[in-house]
Amino acid sequence: MALQSVIDDLAKRPGTGEVIPVIDPATEEQITEFRDAGPEAVDEAVARAKAAYQSGVWTDIPARQRAKVLWKLGDLIDEHAKEFAELESLDAGMPPAQAEMIVSTCAEFFRYYAGWCTKINGNSYQVQMEGGVNSTHANFHAYTHKEPYGVVGLIYPWNGPLFNACAKVAPALAASCSSVVKPAEETPLSAVLLEKLIAQAGVPDGVTNFVIGYGATAGAAITAHPDVEKVAFTGSTEVGKQIMRNSADNLKKVTLELGGKSPVLIYDDADLDMAIMMASMGIFVHSGQGCVCGSRVFVQRSVYERVVAGIAMIGDNLVLGGPKDEGAMISPLVSQKQLDRVMGYIDQGRKDGVEIVSGGYRLDRKGYFIKPTVVTGVDPATSRLYREEIFGPVVTILPFDDDDEAVAMANDTSYGLAATAWTTNLARAHNLGKRLQAGMVGLNCQLTFDHNVPFGGYKQSGLGKEFGYEGIDAYLKTKSIWAAL
Ligand code: NAD
Repeated sequence: MALQSVIDDLAKRPGTGEVIPVIDPATEEQITEFRDAGPEAVDEAVARAKAAYQSGVWTDIPARQRAKVLWKLGDLIDEHAKEFAELESLDAGMPPAQAEMIVSTCAEFFRYYAGWCTKINGNSYQVQMEGGVNSTHANFHAYTHKEPYGVVGLIYPWNGPLFNACAKVAPALAASCSSVVKPAEETPLSAVLLEKLIAQAGVPDGVTNFVIGYGATAGAAITAHPDVEKVAFTGSTEVGKQIMRNSADNLKKVTLELGGKSPVLIYDDADLDMAIMMASMGIFVHSGQGCVCGSRVFVQRSVYERVVAGIAMIGDNLVLGGPKDEGAMISPLVSQKQLDRVMGYIDQGRKDGVEIVSGGYRLDRKGYFIKPTVVTGVDPATSRLYREEIFGPVVTILPFDDDDEAVAMANDTSYGLAATAWTTNLARAHNLGKRLQAGMVGLNCQLTFDHNVPFGGYKQSGLGKEFGYEGIDAYLKTKSIWAAL
């Protein structure tokens, strides 16, 4: 499917709400526009999903048949990898190589979860009780049975649109749920192609339904809908809390993958060149618009100056640009709103008296580009720039003297998504693995992920896990069945 036909299809989608423009963040030019699907479209999509679920058209087919459809979908995504990468580049401003790398991991979600389709099992228990109702001694065979939630709502953000879609659609399909899927209004293009491939792979009509619109309209309608049994959400902590509140009426189950303010600890015994490179890429890649980006770096005092200078130098030398700019390594921010938000934090930092070691300004060109920014001299107790998630290319660096101080500073946050420690002291590394309060800890590695390894945050960074077995279990409920023997 050519790029232009995806763009045209988006513009033709029916909708009842406001017209939403789709902007190329690297040029600020409008790509197309579409109508907000609105709450009516959500009602229709939920009704379709419910009918499909109740008909058994997906739930009742043999698990190995479902697995084949998921596998085929993975292959179709691979076949269309070039178009997906172009769409992600256009929509989110990603350099082509980065978009291709991310798209290459997307098909794998379907192959990985295809494997789980035939392995959804419960446990069995042999129970003996004294003083049963009809006898003094009773035996039971009890077992757990896993059942899909039914209709689920899947809501995801703009920072990695296809990746976020696949991370939810694949386990929901494998668990044989029906779903209503809402991409971010800023980056809807890849969803249009994915929707087509889902049908082409053989997923029956009504099982996976995309609605494209604003969070406050389409998103809120999904979370409030009485026929939606569960919502899986990736996005900001603030909206995550709204979703929990909105889901309370019918006690929807929720899985939340939220924001972060992830710490990176660099010790003087670390491979410093590697640590400096990875700490730099760990915040500047995709202009810091990654939930696991390491936005707070703590450095042992003896190597503090060297690490600050190293990260600033790398930031200064990274080439910013859009998909059409030769040699571009770092994408723009997604929107004017996001650019204003990030510049707001930098300006506030200046007023608070922080030191901007490098960057700190918008590029003098079209597109939402902010130079990678290194900040020192923050007051950890009061600085908003230090304490709040910025979701931009801004890193604060502070020195520490010993393990206890480093751990205390790292954990002094309401977030708990990811943490990293760079040290060649093996015992210290593993101790930090336990002491750092985050759902994912990297020891001498950063930005690592695999479909098989659970992903998700502690504290206000989330609820529940994606990926791995936990990822499919999040779409299943557990029933206990008792049989008297
Ligand atoms: P956001 O919370 O504003 O929006 C995310 C999605 O929720 C969008 O589709 C949006 O339309 C929808 N939404 C907004 N308001 C809603 C409402 N009231 N009801 C239902 N849906 C609503 O987040 P964003 O700005 O698009 O994305 C950036 C945030 O996402 C950052 O905080 C980042 O850390 C987080 N994120 C987390 C992970 C993770 O796995 N933990 C991954 C990527 C991004």
